[in-house]
Amino acid sequence: TPVIDIAGLTKRYSEHTTALNAVDLRVSQGEIVVLLGLSGSGKSTLLRHINGLETPSEGSVGVLGQPVSRLSGAKLRGLRSRVGFIFQQFELVGPLTVLENVLSGALGALRGPRLGLFTYPAALKRKALGHLERVGLLDRAYQRADTLSGGQQQRVAIARALMQDPEVLLADEPVASLDPESSMQVMALIREIAATDGLTVVCSLHQVDLAISWADRIVGLRHGELVLDTPAEGLTRAE
Ligand code: ADP
Ligand code: ADP
Repeated sequence: TPVIDIAGLTKRYSEHTTALNAVDLRVSQGEIVVLLGLSGSGKSTLLRHINGLETPSEGSVGVLGQPVSRLSGAKLRGLRSRVGFIFQQFELVGPLTVLENVLSGALGALRGPRLGLFTYPAALKRKALGHLERVGLLDRAYQRADTLSGGQQQRVAIARALMQDPEVLLADEPVASLDPESSMQVMALIREIAATDGLTVVCSLHQVDLAISWADRIVGLRHGELVLDTPAEGLTRAE
């Protein structure tokens, strides 16, 4: 059974805005998929449905064998904990340390009485430090997150997403704010982690060349419609 199973997904934000129109998409375990499309084509909306952050107007969204679009409460939270999400703007808490940001990705981390003070079991701290080592930022653990470069902040966000041992990783334009060199680093890191951990990845991008060189499979969106679904191998820009 596919890890992601989307059928006939339509999302209307209003009478005039159909963000997704009858989208069908199945993704198998371990696949690395890029959603490719211009700004406004529906990439974020599709990713947010996979994570249960949006409710379909029509159609169904299944993730890890569960009907996301019909879950709520604890069941939805449980499913979301198996799906990591990284964002274009990283969404770190700038004044907190890098380590605290990573820890905030764990269910067991509790915000303490003073803002910014997290309490957590020692095992979680070891786990967070292990993830920081994986993303090459162990030496930055006690630095404020907002002192890091954009590429480093996105790597911290990846470490944070790993705290819940996700089976699926969703990334919404993860390198859109980064320079080319940091972009390559972050994309390579995502692939490496996905391969090691056996993650299924769906990542939105708008850069055609990067998408072709990075993905296993390219899914193209235009005005909310799925207009392309093909292996990345052998594609060239002219196609
Ligand atoms: P992309 O990620 O490809 O840039 P989006 O999924 O963000 O595309 O947007 C698809 C369309 O839906 C756009 O027309 C956008 O303006 C609209 N849209 C997205 N989110 C909302 C929202 N929360 N409310 C209303 N319209 C939205
Ligand atoms: P992206 O193109 O990366 O999806 P946007 O700038 O389109 O980013 O959207 C950023 C946020 O604003 C998203 O959460 C989206 O849901 C929301 N949004 C986008 N378009 C609209 C809209 N027309 N009305 C309300 N919210 C919107």
